[in-house]
Amino acid sequence: MAGETIHGHRFFIGFGGKGANQCVQAARMGAKTAMVCKVGRDVFGNDYIQNFKNNDISTGNSQTVLHWENAIVIVAVNAKVLVCQLEINPDTSLQALRMARENHVKTICNPAPAIADLCSDFYKVFDVFCCNESEAELLTGLSVTSVEDASQVGLELLNKGCGSVIVTLGPQGCVVCQSRNMAPKHIPTTAVTAADTTGAGDSFIGALAFYMAHYPTMPLEEMARRANLVAAMSVQTVGTQTSFPFQKDLPTELKVTLDLKTT
Ligand code: AMP
Repeated sequence: MAGETIHGHRFFIGFGGKGANQCVQAARMGAKTAMVCKVGRDVFGNDYIQNFKNNDISTGNSQTVLHWENAIVIVAVNAKVLVCQLEINPDTSLQALRMARENHVKTICNPAPAIADLCSDFYKVFDVFCCNESEAELLTGLSVTSVEDASQVGLELLNKGCGSVIVTLGPQGCVVCQSRNMAPKHIPTTAVTAADTTGAGDSFIGALAFYMAHYPTMPLEEMARRANLVAAMSVQTVGTQTSFPFQKDLPTELKVTLDLKTT
C-alpha cells in the first residue's frame, strides 16, 4: 500500500540502458565498440563508465562529450555500424543516423522506448529497423500477437519508408521484411528454458550489429537467425548484461563462423 514500509529481501544494482546493453553484447561477440553517452558526475556515473571499460568498450567519447553532435561526428566517420535508440532526444538520434548514412556507415535503429508519433523521416534514414512486438504496435497501431501480425506490421513499416525491418517475437524468434523482397520471412529460434528474458532484445541487437560489422555481405535473414541464437542464450541466465554470452560461450555453429572473420 502507498506509504507502507515493507521489508525487501534482495537488493541488486545492475548496469543497463538499451544502448549500453546492445554495446556490451556486440563487444562480447568480438566487435570493436565505442559508446557515446553522457553520465552523471557521481559514483553511479563512474561505475557505469568503468563497466564499459571492463567490457573493452571505448569510452573516450562518453567521458569527454560536452557537445553531443561533435562526438557523433567522430564515431560516425570511423565506425562500420551505428546503433541508435530513442532513449535520448529522438532528433539527436535522427541526426546521428543521417550523419552515419552520409559517411557510408551501416545503421540500426531500435525505436525504444517507442513513441507513437515518431517523425516520418525516421523511417527512411537507416539500414535496419529493429523493434519488438509492443514497439511495433505503438508505431503502427496494429496489434501484434502472432507471426502473421508481425509480418503485417513489418509490411506497414516498409510502407512508411523502411528498407529493412526486423520484428522480434520473444520465443518465436523474429520476422524479417525487406523492401526488395516483399514477402516477410519468419525466422524461428531454438526452444530453451527461459530464466529471465530481460534484455533479450538488446542481446539480439548487439549480436546483429556485430554481424553487420563483420559480415557485411551476409543476408539479413541469416544475421537474424544467428542473433536469435545469441539472444536465446541470454534468456537462460538471470540478469541483463550478466546474461549476455561472450564469444567463447557461443555454440560451435556460431564459433566456427566467428573464426572465419580472421581468415
Ligand atoms: P523480445 O524482445 O522478447 O522480442 O526478444 C528478442 C529476441 O530474444 C527474440 O527475437 C528471440 O531471439 C530472443 N528470445 C526472447 N525470449 C526468448 C525465449 N523465451 N526463448 C528463446 N529466445 C528468446
